[in-house]
Amino acid sequence: MKKIVVLGGGIAGIEAAIFLRKYNFDVELISDRDYLFIYPISIWLPTREKNFNDVIIPIEELSRVHGFKFIKDKVIEVNKDGFILEKGGERKDFDYLIVAIGQEKLKHKGLEYTYSICGNPQEIISYTEKLNEIINTKRSGKLAFGFGGNPKAKEAVRGGPVFEILFNVDHYLRKLKVRDNFELIFFAPMPKPGERLGETALKMMDMMFKRLNIKSITGKKIVEFLPDGIVFEDGTKIDSDLTLFVPAGEGHTAIKNGNLPKTEAGFILIERDNRVKDCENIYAIGDCVALEGPEWKAKQGHIAEVMARNTAFNIALREGLEKGNPKTYVEHINILCLMDMGNGGALAYRDNKRAMLIPLPIIGHWMKKGWGVYYKLSKLGKIPRLPGM
Ligand SMILES: Cc1cc2nc3c(=O)[nH]c(=O)nc-3n(C[C@H](O)[C@H](O)[C@H](O)COP(=O)(O)OP(=O)(O)OC[C@H]3O[C@@H](n4cnc5c(N)ncnc54)[C@H](O)[C@@H]3O)c2cc1C
Repeated sequence: MKKIVVLGGGIAGIEAAIFLRKYNFDVELISDRDYLFIYPISIWLPTREKNFNDVIIPIEELSRVHGFKFIKDKVIEVNKDGFILEKGGERKDFDYLIVAIGQEKLKHKGLEYTYSICGNPQEIISYTEKLNEIINTKRSGKLAFGFGGNPKAKEAVRGGPVFEILFNVDHYLRKLKVRDNFELIFFAPMPKPGERLGETALKMMDMMFKRLNIKSITGKKIVEFLPDGIVFEDGTKIDSDLTLFVPAGEGHTAIKNGNLPKTEAGFILIERDNRVKDCENIYAIGDCVALEGPEWKAKQGHIAEVMARNTAFNIALREGLEKGNPKTYVEHINILCLMDMGNGGALAYRDNKRAMLIPLPIIGHWMKKGWGVYYKLSKLGKIPRLPGM
């Protein structure tokens, strides 16, 4: 039985391990956290609609259900012939290696004065505590929400979840009847943030901001973050008691440390079948890779899962366990996002032919909640998987 090591226990790595086990491969998954953090539903932590245990799945449980081995360790370096672990040292004992360690965040001056909702889950927990402390003690204040860009990797910008948290916090404050005491400010350095969702989405976002009385400051480069606000290139400053900021992604340190082929931004270069360029038996999936595709492409969970399933199939094909041609991810590049607004949502979709945003008052919120329940139960094998999900 061929041995396959998967690095990273996020959305991509877990899906790969599950699908590889369907072919009976000997699978070992190595990750630095012992739980899968379900980022798309973590947006409800700040408003206390969900708690930490609702948005995770312990990897031990997944490993029991699907029969893969789990090791908790940190990957320090990934190379063409193996990888190095913090505790486990150098490893080369695999027939295939799948890299799924996600991305890191660009560094900005004063980032320590901001809170993020990406990367280490501890950050969103700290944001939740601080937000609720301000609401409960001061009962008023200025809250800023923003995201940054990466000129070297436009697809690594993560704006959707920032809009979701902003709208959810607005709804939360209204429910608590303190919204009038708070100023909500959105900021981003690009002139048209959210542009890749298309013109309709931009217009709708603008309308929502006006309707909800959210101030928007865009098109100004960020110079630094301070404990009490954000300073821009033109010398102006936003005052903020609490700043939520999501920097754009950049390549993982373990990839930068190693010799896998990568872009200037540190993302792994892959073929369309997810094989790492110039490597016979190493694959890379999810946020850690450089995506091929149109200008508006974005790194999303559903693309990470397609890559994971394709990779399991493609390895099985090479081992004579499947028939047909290698599967590629490129035709699956689209933007599909159910954007939650606390009391409803909107379905954003973009492909090469169309860009649309369909408002889904009330039901949109419950659809996303339903997806979260489906995701957890189906990963644990408690309910059947729907095709393609
Ligand atoms: C707040 C938020 C909301 C989102 N909402 C949506 C949405 O609604 N729809 C959608 O499609 N996408 C959404 N996304 C994007 C989606 O979550 C990502 O595209 C997806 O998580 C990528 O999966 P991944 O496995 O590549 O990376 P990750 O999920 O980041 O997983 C990486 C894994 O690797 C592990 N790891 C990292 N470094 C190391 C190391 N050195 N050693 C060992 N292990 C390591 C981590 O612990 C983690 O388990 C959202 C993202 C965020 C942050």
